[in-house]
Amino acid sequence: MSSFSAPAPLAFALYDSAAQAVLPLTLPKGQPLSFYACGITPYAAPHVGHLRSFVAFDAMARVLEAFGWPTTLVRNITDIDDKILAMAAEQGTDWQTLSGDWAAHNRTQFARVGVRPTPEPRVSTHIPQILALIERLIALGHAYATPTGDVYFSLATFTTGTDVAHQPREALRSAAGLSRVGTEGKREPADFALWKAAKPGEPAWTSPWGAGRPGWHIECSAMAEAFFGDTLTIHGGGTDLRFPHHQCEVCQSEAAFGRPLARHWIHHGSVLHAGEKMSKSLGNTVTAAEALTEAEALAPGQGGAVVRWALLGAHWPKPLDWKGTLLPRAAADLARLADALHAAMRTRGVRDWAGLQGHAEGANAPPFVGETAFWAALGANFNVPLAQASVRQAAKAARTAGPVGWAAAHFLAQAVRLLGLDEAIWPTAWQAPVATPLSVPQSVQRLVVQREGARAARDFAQADVLRAQILARGWQVADRPEGPHLQPAG
Ligand SMILES: [Zn+2]
Repeated sequence: MSSFSAPAPLAFALYDSAAQAVLPLTLPKGQPLSFYACGITPYAAPHVGHLRSFVAFDAMARVLEAFGWPTTLVRNITDIDDKILAMAAEQGTDWQTLSGDWAAHNRTQFARVGVRPTPEPRVSTHIPQILALIERLIALGHAYATPTGDVYFSLATFTTGTDVAHQPREALRSAAGLSRVGTEGKREPADFALWKAAKPGEPAWTSPWGAGRPGWHIECSAMAEAFFGDTLTIHGGGTDLRFPHHQCEVCQSEAAFGRPLARHWIHHGSVLHAGEKMSKSLGNTVTAAEALTEAEALAPGQGGAVVRWALLGAHWPKPLDWKGTLLPRAAADLARLADALHAAMRTRGVRDWAGLQGHAEGANAPPFVGETAFWAALGANFNVPLAQASVRQAAKAARTAGPVGWAAAHFLAQAVRLLGLDEAIWPTAWQAPVATPLSVPQSVQRLVVQREGARAARDFAQADVLRAQILARGWQVADRPEGPHLQPAG
């Protein structure tokens, strides 16, 4: 747990889709918090909508810990699905290779924006748990098998349960039943599939009802149960999953176990592109890789930090509009924050975060005046944009000499680290650029700062590339105990 933490009595509240109100978490502080989020079906490049989802929940988990709950965030991977099978057939590969490769690619992209690794249960490794849950539902009379080997949830048998979606029952009946499986043997046309009988040429697992594979909704109910057992503290996902997916999860889990699936239901907003819904069919998606390349061009060595800061700049329940000014603004914002940290270091004659943190002024420093507002913003429906305003306020105050300035700089550093902008994705912030008696061109100074960042991140290959670029501009850099030393080459 971070030493930078919320004042102990402060509540943490979230907009709850089931209650349709902002509700405080009632879990006693110190108790483990279970957080299940619906993850990705890996069959194509992730886009900024995925980045937003992962960054929002990653940041929320970090902040929940700072509020006093040891948090386990789990995201499933739907590694067997119609879309994966279709894409694998199109590319002449098998579904395991396709989904495995994209899942690995996703991990790399998410790490670049500071998303911490989490457990990633996969459907194909949870078939026994899925079968057990379906058998339980059949035994309880909430599901039934057809003569053709499909298994359906019987909507007529379960009319209670948490109302996540606030849609009329008829809407669930029409939406949930829209599966590719046939209607033969269904009691109600709209009963949704828990198990799909095998089709020729498709992967299948043996089951009491014949060869087949799981439906989509059942996997989350089974994996949430397998991972956490009891009622989840938080179940999250994108707003598009609220209905029918989450309402179907409720039917399955609550019919099977007779307790709420989750205490809190949260749904983050979607990503728009210049005001329009970002979607594959409209052809206006921006991939994670494209966003990172654009950010990297704006702020070399800091692309991941820029994208993360930009994504956190929209309040999580609201849509985020991915427009042209978003990344340049975030890059400029981060440049000001880094400048303030560097100024605070130089003022005190230290050259990095460790030096600033250990500076004697810290002993007498009062708390930064904006810190209360920062924690209050995070506790009031996880309002990161408002918390970012406190960070900007600290950047101004960090330029002041003395303990008050130290406190502002120290708060600034801890606040951005809490939000996930640490050395791994924002290496340049934590070391002041080198002061040198010779007039070193700005471009060379920037390269030296980037190289220090690469060295701090132990990316020595990149450090060597930067050394060569510095040399190409006529300067030689030597690494000395007190820091990098520049002299004209040749
Ligand atoms: Zn799910």
